[in-house]
Amino acid sequence: MSADRKPVALVTGAADGIGWAIARRFAAAGCRVALADLAEERVRERAWELGREHLALAADVAEEAAVVRMVGGTLEHFGRLDMLVNNAGIGDPQRPTLEQDAATFDRILAVHLRGTFTASREAARAMAESGGGAILNLASIAGLTGLPRRNAYGAAKAGIVAMTRGMACEWAGQGIRVNAIAPGYVRTALVAKLEAEGRLDGARIRRRIPMGRLAEPEELAEAAWFLCSPAASYVTGTVLSVDGGWMAFGDSGDASAG
Ligand code: NAD
Repeated sequence: MSADRKPVALVTGAADGIGWAIARRFAAAGCRVALADLAEERVRERAWELGREHLALAADVAEEAAVVRMVGGTLEHFGRLDMLVNNAGIGDPQRPTLEQDAATFDRILAVHLRGTFTASREAARAMAESGGGAILNLASIAGLTGLPRRNAYGAAKAGIVAMTRGMACEWAGQGIRVNAIAPGYVRTALVAKLEAEGRLDGARIRRRIPMGRLAEPEELAEAAWFLCSPAASYVTGTVLSVDGGWMAFGDSGDASAG
């Protein structure tokens, strides 16, 4: 396939964790990838590592103007946009709700929810003009079920689930599919930091997962690629749990014991 006919994918939060695994997977599938991240230097290194035909973009997805520049920069460089992965995210400090401050709450919502909204809006304009595309949002089990001390993160992820369904219905006529994946616990820096700070009990979490282990970022990337690829041409508005069975488990005690 000639370079200018290869699909173009924009992945936010692509400098690390799940986003970096998604960028690699999409590139391996033959996409030209725009890797966007707040971590400017690291995302430049990542794009360089991936190869010359890919692009690094510095962007804070919580800032509307930065998101407009991010999507505009992708279109300017590649001339098209076929896939958007709204992956950029931050953890919740997991304070008791009674101790949560509004500024932290607002920042978490701005990164996850407003970032997903503005990036999707900008991308969908371009996709509608070129005949369609695919948008994939990173939700979480925290948006599907009740997790204590995740008041902002859980609300943001539940909002992303609602937005996924709404946008899927709104843009289906323009050939734009919108889906989400809801990871359980994934072995990334985000989770390692929570565990190191004693805010997450890794052993207890593993016992709660029927498969008895955390996901590897690459396992999320496979699901992301499926939902954005032509293999999922009739799939829109869906939220795919990729959680080792977390959402399926309704008993008490040790889920991995069977
Ligand atoms: P990570 O911390 O390993 O990587 C996140 C990346 O996003 C980093 O490179 C960071 O610089 C970037 N980022 C953070 N804020 C940004 C902003 N405002 N603008 C642009 N980039 C920004 O995290 P991860 O574990 O790979 O998580 C990726 C996504 O998956 C997030 O949306 C997260 O909520 C979701 N998720 C993760 C898990 C998990 O267990 N790791 C579980 C469920 C959902």
